[in-house]
Amino acid sequence: HIGPQKVDRSVDSVCPFCGVGCQITYHVRDEQIVSVSGRNGPANAGRLCVKGRFGFDYVASPDRLTVPLIRRADAPKDVAHCETHPDWRRVFREATWDEALDLAAGRLNALKARHGPKSLAGFGSAKGSNEEAYLFQKLVRTGFGSNNVDHCTRLCHASSVAALLEGVGSGAVSNPVSDVAHAELIFIIGSNPTANHPVAATWMKNAAQRGAKIVLADPRITDIARHAWRVLPFKPGADVAMLNALLHVIVNEGLCDEAFIRDRADNFAALAANVQGYSPEAMAPICGIAADTLREVARAYATARSAIILWGMGVSQHVHGTDNVRGLIALATCTGQIGRPGTGLHPLRGQNNVQGASDAGLIPMMFPNYQRVDNGAAHAWFEDFWGTTLDDEPGYTVVEIMHKALAPESDPHKVRGMVIMGENPAMSDPDLNHARHALASLRHLVVQDIFLTETAWLADVVLPASAWPEKTGTVSNTDRMVQLGQQALTPPGEARADLWIIQQLAQRMGLGWSYENDSCSRTLDKRQSQNSSETYHGVAQVYDEMRRAMHGAIAGITWERLQREGSVTYPCLSADDPGQPVVFTDGVPTKNGKVQLVPADIIPPDELPDADYPMVLITGRQLEHWHTGAMTRRASVLDALEPAPTVSMHGHDLARLGLQAGGTARVQSRRGEVELMVRRDDGTPPGSIFIPFAYREAAANLLTNAALDPFGKIPEFKYCAVRVAPA
Ligand code: SF4
Repeated sequence: HIGPQKVDRSVDSVCPFCGVGCQITYHVRDEQIVSVSGRNGPANAGRLCVKGRFGFDYVASPDRLTVPLIRRADAPKDVAHCETHPDWRRVFREATWDEALDLAAGRLNALKARHGPKSLAGFGSAKGSNEEAYLFQKLVRTGFGSNNVDHCTRLCHASSVAALLEGVGSGAVSNPVSDVAHAELIFIIGSNPTANHPVAATWMKNAAQRGAKIVLADPRITDIARHAWRVLPFKPGADVAMLNALLHVIVNEGLCDEAFIRDRADNFAALAANVQGYSPEAMAPICGIAADTLREVARAYATARSAIILWGMGVSQHVHGTDNVRGLIALATCTGQIGRPGTGLHPLRGQNNVQGASDAGLIPMMFPNYQRVDNGAAHAWFEDFWGTTLDDEPGYTVVEIMHKALAPESDPHKVRGMVIMGENPAMSDPDLNHARHALASLRHLVVQDIFLTETAWLADVVLPASAWPEKTGTVSNTDRMVQLGQQALTPPGEARADLWIIQQLAQRMGLGWSYENDSCSRTLDKRQSQNSSETYHGVAQVYDEMRRAMHGAIAGITWERLQREGSVTYPCLSADDPGQPVVFTDGVPTKNGKVQLVPADIIPPDELPDADYPMVLITGRQLEHWHTGAMTRRASVLDALEPAPTVSMHGHDLARLGLQAGGTARVQSRRGEVELMVRRDDGTPPGSIFIPFAYREAAANLLTNAALDPFGKIPEFKYCAVRVAPA
């Protein structure tokens, strides 16, 4: 423990890992973070998990990028470098900022001039601030000239957002996690909250202790099961069968809230007719849950005074992810479990700012605040607001952009140049061999990051950026809370604030912006500032422009208010609006104010097991590591706790396959293979295996399938066919 007397300063911020949004304080001594403590924030009340408390010394890692890099003329793009990470000097040379930025923007300009705006694309990041997300999507839309901009929301909850926008008119949660305290029943599906949203899980456990019934529906029996009233370990991919069986019980046993349905929902008759073919008895062998248990859970959910649904990527990362969420919306709507404390729909957002980055327009079909780019009125408004002409065609999504990078030369929409800010698609995309070759095939790739990530190894220009403790900005958590983090450290070496880098690229692409950085100890190039037609005097001004672009949703959340209060929940329509944690109290923001119910039928996973590949791979995260591991694997405590890639499987499978815990297994799919240590986990269903995707030396996504949900365009990370053998 480092006591207050031993630190030079303490600076308030927000945890940079998951979407729970725990408020923290960085304690700094000799310009290094020496400890982190939890603050009394609305999402955490002083609590932190192991990542928030100990995952901070990545900031001081010797691996930090401290100077711009340019690929050597004699260094071909080699996808093997994503795994081997050779001496960087063999691949890159150091450059000045002017040289790197001129090259980065100059080649983008040349590609655009020769092949048109759609030859360029940009990936932003849910790890950055709202202001960075806003400015980056504005750069792509107004500078590149297309809507080819996306980020990792496409890989986590895109199908949830698609179903929620369709059904209830809003892609965000209806109630905060803390509402589990008011719930009589907590339905958790496709989520492992103790690993992925650990502090949120503590509220769920507290609720169970005071008598709330937790229902855990997940193919894997995870830690939260110890607190559950009922556990439904349904067969992987059988979500729709199970949800329709629950709806069948509710519709046929008179458990619907008829007044609620009459006043607040459309299309109930079609939904009720559709679920007639899904009796619990018929679905039991398909989903693997006994009919009696399905009936018991349906009755308990429908008759609870208040019941909330929380879900994770086990629901969304399927080719039928949107249908899964349609089923959850139907469950809540048919029973009137919406619009009150302790009820509602809560997709547990993954990254710390995936909610905010999506709100800010970092998605290819929407301007900020989910205004469709092909909606004439919204399009005209943004053309007027930004003072330029804009593309009115939705852009390509993450996986589509990878396909377009490998499209034939004759394809007029072939993607040839990209800027990637803070994302690591060479680890996070499905079917990595394909994704890495797509990145390597680009004529020009600019990567802006804090480390030489697997993606950066394929770049032409690498721009050293700032880590979260090195900047001031806002992030929006899974509860729709906009929260302010303050800068605690100066970026190392020549690394710069991301807002400054975006502005410099914009300048060189002819946009004439300037960013006078008042929050970092860097000074701007005054020459460029004087020439600019649009100057942002620091992060607060970027925030203010974003606030105006958000059409009222955060109108009452001014920068000054955030400095005063630290956290405000939207919608927040005016200065005296305290924020609205619970929404849909009188209706939903669809065209007629009613929930649009959508029946769903069973669509099987894209790649079913067969004789050659007889097992099912489920990928995901683990408690100690975050996503592709770029930060947490460089955090010494976290890396010591979980230093190596593992594959988890049931004891029956270990015996059947001749494997032992601690031994090494080879896992192969039709797309790749990895070798990794075996871990016995009897919570993993027999016939399935679980691999976290944080480890480059055994990248789980070498195995995964790039098949997409047709609505959310999200890949099926939670299901593909593999075979396993001793290595
Ligand atoms: Fe950070 Fe999430 Fe852990 Fe909170 S629960 S400390 S936000 S990783």
